[in-house]
Amino acid sequence: MIGNMATETIFAPSTAPGKAGVAVVRVSGSEAKEALEQIAGLVPVPRAAQLAMLRDPRSREVLDKGLVLFFPAPHSFTGEDVAEFQIHGSRAVVAGLIGALVSIPGLRLAEPGEFVRRAFENGKMDLAETEALADLLAAETAAQRRQALNGLESGLGPKAEAWRGELIQAQALIEAEIDFPDEGDVPAGLIARAQEIASALSQNIHRVLAAPDGARLREGAVVVIAGPPNVGKSSFLNRVAKREVAIVTPHAGTTRDLLELPLDLGGFPVALIDTAGFRDATDPVEIEAIERAAQRAASADLVLWFSDDPRTDSVPSDFANLVVWGVRTKADLQSADAGQRFIISAATGSGISELLSALSEHLASVLTPQELALVTRRRHRDALEEARRELQACVSIAEPELLAEVLRRAARSLGRISGRVDVEDVLDAVFGSFCIGK
Ligand code: GDP
Repeated sequence: MIGNMATETIFAPSTAPGKAGVAVVRVSGSEAKEALEQIAGLVPVPRAAQLAMLRDPRSREVLDKGLVLFFPAPHSFTGEDVAEFQIHGSRAVVAGLIGALVSIPGLRLAEPGEFVRRAFENGKMDLAETEALADLLAAETAAQRRQALNGLESGLGPKAEAWRGELIQAQALIEAEIDFPDEGDVPAGLIARAQEIASALSQNIHRVLAAPDGARLREGAVVVIAGPPNVGKSSFLNRVAKREVAIVTPHAGTTRDLLELPLDLGGFPVALIDTAGFRDATDPVEIEAIERAAQRAASADLVLWFSDDPRTDSVPSDFANLVVWGVRTKADLQSADAGQRFIISAATGSGISELLSALSEHLASVLTPQELALVTRRRHRDALEEARRELQACVSIAEPELLAEVLRRAARSLGRISGRVDVEDVLDAVFGSFCIGK
């Protein structure tokens, strides 16, 4: 355990506030048993649900009839004694129970992420796992869920810890030799062995770093809809959204701002962005809107270039480095030229589902790593790159003290991933992103 801060008993609702069939309130710490005794009048056998009348310990007023559970330390989520109250999910019932818990000495409301922090501090989860848990709680699409679950089940943390173990062993062997100089120099074989370990590890790290980055899947892809004014961009977006997210008018230049429609396309999170029409504008507001559209498009994963007359509209040179798909619009008005891949009508809906399924297929190939990504955050990437730099340097270091020092530094970088070393500065940032009750 790092530090000794987990002494107070904490509690919080684990379910979202509001009307629901059931709400769950959890208590973690040495007073969890006391809370059960005072409120439910009993402590159930470990890990078995028991129905009980729940009373306010001060007035003995009945608050609810609900299920209670007890998870004795260390076999609980936090590693401490945990009590769980499953009650009716109304605001009044939850407020009643919270009021009852507050009245018990030694109990206080948890800070955001405090349950997870205790799980981390008690060795129940490594830091990379807590991040995967945060991702799972925030997952909105199936692919995000799969990546987060993979991070929880077979994530980067254990891998980095195993690598760190190898480095520490190599470093220890060299240091043992340094400590007994009477027995002569550190054997060359030992140095060579440590260098071999360093170079094999450096290659393994390179492979993990070279795999597609999971951050993209966490954040979602960006698809920009661009094209001249009045070609039907907003109408398409509305059709897709099945609601009026963009103002559609027959006058050019109505889309003054960027409209963003979050979509789940085949499990992949996508932001579909409608942009101001590209044309020679004079109105400063419109010029600004066009400028912003160009900027957003420049960082997009894909641009859909809409046009109702492909003979006159050409794709701007700004998009030269992007993947651009031409989409012919207003198919109901005129017959399209043969050979065009995407021909749609926002008025009749024709061609739209074909376009969306091509999109989801394309994004799947862009966003899905061959194997699920292990590196899902900048923090992971930085630590791995740092370790790799140190390990690469090892190959040309023959001096034992220096080699041991560089191995130690590489091990330290890897240790940051699981959070077992030197991470006080990142802990607050990681746990602060959870909501209360997690
Ligand atoms: P934007 O400026 O590119 O966003 O274009 P809008 O979506 O605002 O559409 C401009 C005009 O074209 C509006 O009057 C729409 O009703 C009309 N429009 C859009 N899509 C179609 C279509 O598929 N068929 C027909 N007939 N009219 C369309």
